[in-house]
Amino acid sequence: MEEKKESLNFIEQIIENDLETGKHKEIYTRFPPEPNGYLHVGHAKSICLNFGIKEKYNGKCNLRFDDTNPVKEDVEYINSILEDIKWLGFEYDKLLYASDYFEQLYGWAVKLVKEGKAYVDEQTPEQISEQRTNPTVPGVESPFRNRSVDENLHLLEEMKNGLHEEGSMVLRAKIDMNSPNMHMRDPIMYRIIKSHHDRTGDKWCIYPMYDYAHGQSDYIEGITHSLCTLEFEVHRPLYDWFLDQIYISGTRPRQIEFARLNLSYTIMSKRKLLELVTNKWVNGWDDPRMPTISGLRRRGYTPEAVRNFAERIGVAKRENIIDLSLLEYCIREDLNKKANRVMAVLDPLKVVITNYPEGQTEILEAQNNPEDESAGTRNIVFSRIIYIEREDFMEEPPKKYFRLAPGQEVRLRYAYFIKCDEIIKDENGNITELRCSYDPESKGGKSPDGRKVKGTIHWVDSETCIDAEARIYDRLFTKENPDDLAENETYLDYLNPDSLNVINIKVESYVKDKNPGEKFQFERKGYFCIDKDSTSEKLVFNRTVTLKDSWSKIAGNE
Ligand code: ATP
Ligand code: MG
Repeated sequence: MEEKKESLNFIEQIIENDLETGKHKEIYTRFPPEPNGYLHVGHAKSICLNFGIKEKYNGKCNLRFDDTNPVKEDVEYINSILEDIKWLGFEYDKLLYASDYFEQLYGWAVKLVKEGKAYVDEQTPEQISEQRTNPTVPGVESPFRNRSVDENLHLLEEMKNGLHEEGSMVLRAKIDMNSPNMHMRDPIMYRIIKSHHDRTGDKWCIYPMYDYAHGQSDYIEGITHSLCTLEFEVHRPLYDWFLDQIYISGTRPRQIEFARLNLSYTIMSKRKLLELVTNKWVNGWDDPRMPTISGLRRRGYTPEAVRNFAERIGVAKRENIIDLSLLEYCIREDLNKKANRVMAVLDPLKVVITNYPEGQTEILEAQNNPEDESAGTRNIVFSRIIYIEREDFMEEPPKKYFRLAPGQEVRLRYAYFIKCDEIIKDENGNITELRCSYDPESKGGKSPDGRKVKGTIHWVDSETCIDAEARIYDRLFTKENPDDLAENETYLDYLNPDSLNVINIKVESYVKDKNPGEKFQFERKGYFCIDKDSTSEKLVFNRTVTLKDSWSKIAGNE
């Protein structure tokens, strides 16, 4: 996976051409989220693209909140978005709000009305959408389409002053009711919403639609390249039409569309993610199973892994579904370099080393990270009673089982060879304890006489280990594309009932005083990080990812 993409993506090609021809001296992009939910990894792609261009071309990038619908928006979302962008490691040049431009946008709307290019329509939204018919049939003109400029100005002002009820009228651009592009069939510019706005208070009761606000905001800010996802391609003629009406001089922004990110076994619509949160299918926006940036962060993802992922998937014009395992590959790759190794037993089985003196303990040295010598070493305690992983013992092992078995030796990581002499069971026949003997000459796991011990297993010391909770996650959906549904289905039908499994584990004492967010590799078991739910009594770990890709092969066989 080392190949570096030297070739430019299609957006970079456009940009480099614009720089060469002198169309632009400085490149200016923006990231324009609507603060109506938390950001997800799809947004991360857009952030990396917009801010990445700023960094690459020494340009600028604004963060602009598209706060044009007070009913759905909230400061909680604004704060989470600010935090996520900072966490990803990007800095915006200006922090702006579409609501900063309400006055200017209204002024332009009045100009359009005066020029006979916009009118107040008193029909219901249903009537309006019916009259648009479909692309192959000419639309029907509104009976209000040709009212006089004076009447329109008067009504628009009344709308603005709150004299009309929500839904009773809208301002529409007068473009072309016969256009094959439905977005050009007299699109709505303003609607009445009588809700308090976090920034403009009760000053406004008419709010601009996305299509009217967006391009104008780009123009006000001097954006050169306005990057958005493919579904806006059909809006582009409208984006340009509005600019044609108001453009005077300076930078004229250009909208360019790219393919949105789709991830397998994941949904990426804010509306559906909000539904998961409000109906408590998950535990909040930052539930580690969520594809939100805050969910990934809590799960143990690093900003480097997310940025790397965005780099690897690239930017293209065709939509596809990216395999979730690529995202997992990126976090494994990063944590392999960064995470200290510790030993933790997820399903403990007690082992008594009968020939090890009672009351004796000793300190062994363990390497923190074989990938990073500067990570140093740590001390681990060894004593007579330890825990091993239940699955690392088999009473009747098959051939080529190299872990612990009756009469069979195994190496305890960093410690000694042990051999199983006796199995203790409860009345139901369940194994409760193993009695083993160790070879004092095999300290450090080195063979004293050249005899071969193939298997090495991890363990923890019973006296000093700590009990902790581990949350083992699986993908949130059982279907590769939960948006691809039959008629009577909903994406909720494919929620994975086993996406969260809580277990009690034993971890070596090294993790005792570590803090939420710290990341470890539990040897042989995966990458884990400390969750914010941890208390002074009990640490809680999230499994970020397994060490190996365990299910993409299975998925591939479906
Ligand atoms: P919704 O889910 O409500 O349609 P949205 O995801 O489009 O919302 P916005 O806040 O409008 O959310 O998105 C901000 C920016 O992020 C937009 O430029 C949008 O094109 C981009 N974006 C959103 N989803 C993705 C995605 N899956 N991949 C890439 N970019 C995305
Ligand atoms: Mg959107």
